[in-house]
Amino acid sequence: MRVRWIMFDKFQEECGVFGIYGHPDAANLTYLGLYALQHRGQEAAGIVSSDGKELFSVKGRGLVADIFTEDRIKKLHGHSAIGHNRYSTTGESSLINVQPIQVNFALGSLAIAHNGNLVNAGILKDELEAYGSIFQSTMDSEVIIHLIAQSRMATLHDRIVEALGHVQGSYSLLVITENELIAVRDPRGFRPFSLGELDGSYVVSSETCAFDLIEARYIRDIEPGEMLVINKDGVHSSFPFVQAEPSHCIFEFIYFARPDSLVYGQNVYAIRKAFGMQLAKESSVSADVVIPVPDSGVPAALGYAEEAGIPFDFGMIRNHYVGRTFIEPRQTIRHFGVKIKLNPVRDVIKGKRVVVVDDSIVRGTTSKKIIKMIRNAGAAEVHMRVSSPPTMSPCYYGIDTPTRHELIASSHSIEEIKKYITADSLNYISLEGIQKVVPYPVNYCAACFDGEYPVPFPGEMLAQLGLFDGK
Ligand code: AMP
Repeated sequence: MRVRWIMFDKFQEECGVFGIYGHPDAANLTYLGLYALQHRGQEAAGIVSSDGKELFSVKGRGLVADIFTEDRIKKLHGHSAIGHNRYSTTGESSLINVQPIQVNFALGSLAIAHNGNLVNAGILKDELEAYGSIFQSTMDSEVIIHLIAQSRMATLHDRIVEALGHVQGSYSLLVITENELIAVRDPRGFRPFSLGELDGSYVVSSETCAFDLIEARYIRDIEPGEMLVINKDGVHSSFPFVQAEPSHCIFEFIYFARPDSLVYGQNVYAIRKAFGMQLAKESSVSADVVIPVPDSGVPAALGYAEEAGIPFDFGMIRNHYVGRTFIEPRQTIRHFGVKIKLNPVRDVIKGKRVVVVDDSIVRGTTSKKIIKMIRNAGAAEVHMRVSSPPTMSPCYYGIDTPTRHELIASSHSIEEIKKYITADSLNYISLEGIQKVVPYPVNYCAACFDGEYPVPFPGEMLAQLGLFDGK
């Protein structure tokens, strides 16, 4: 059977999810939760709430603060809610592709919000359509809804377990019904998922920074393979899936999560700083100043500077108001794309030997432009340091990465990349260095760096995805 993978919007999706059960201010708190998780998705957002009898939904494209006006939040009645932030994708971005996905089925109403990526969604979709399913969206997550609806199990809980037993890949999943909130994390625990408490109500979130904003208390992470059913009787935990070794996404630590969050029970900022310190131990260089690529490179640059004993400074300032799209002026400005986001501080850079620290190099185009910018600002030397190993392989578990051939490190040596980005020197942290900070690969997925994919793909897809290199 041909895998019609291309049917899905985009199989790499980053997202944020938030849910709350049993709080009189559920919709408003979910709005705030999504606001704190905005970095996990800026394309669209949605909230579905429940008043115990029916579900209410507000969804829109754009940023959380623009979608959820006071009037719209007022329409989200009830004591429970789930919300979803969706990352920018290149595929269809119609409202039908905005989560939570809400449906009515044999057992009542439900809505789901999913962070992750189902690697066998294409195959499942083909099979479901053969049995009569009519898909509304181009999202992989919709497969879960159809599997629940077609299940012959008597209870919703059993239907969810059966449905998720069919899917492979990553999911931090929230399900809301008229009277329950259900949170499930895939057996590998690819994406983060935390449980908290607020005024006697339970909250769940992709990241703990959402708890901080609403002053909820972090209780613990939802465990890999755990299903939490939250209802009027409290929280019921079960582990209904075949257990697997944890494979937490290491890229959450490197780039994706907010540094003030606890992810997999550890503070992201502290880990990023430790990566920077380790990087300095591995690749010291005589220099006058260490500058970060803001914002994501800041903690690692601080760690690098501290360990190397070189002064840290802000050599570039980021414009925080750059939207997802901007119109380039008629008269083309060279390197407009990077200039609109970043501008050098000439006094910090001029005449200096500069170490510039970024969290990752993906295509290499950003680094090239940044180095040019730093040289134009008068730097004597520019040494690039990267607080992740070379990004060699695409992610299929929920991080938005380009295809393999677009990843510069998949086809170029470090020396070649150094020349391409025009750095005086270039060093990445080693995989062993990462391992010293987090116990990779025991509990982590680092497929983007080592190509070891913990969850296999359906056979035919391997070839389509170019995983059989050169064959
Ligand atoms: P590139 O020009 O493709 O090498 O982009 C590298 C820059 O993209 C770095 O500054 C990273 O912080 C940033 N970055 C890395 N991964 C992602 C991602 N998944 N989504 C958006 N930006 C990213």
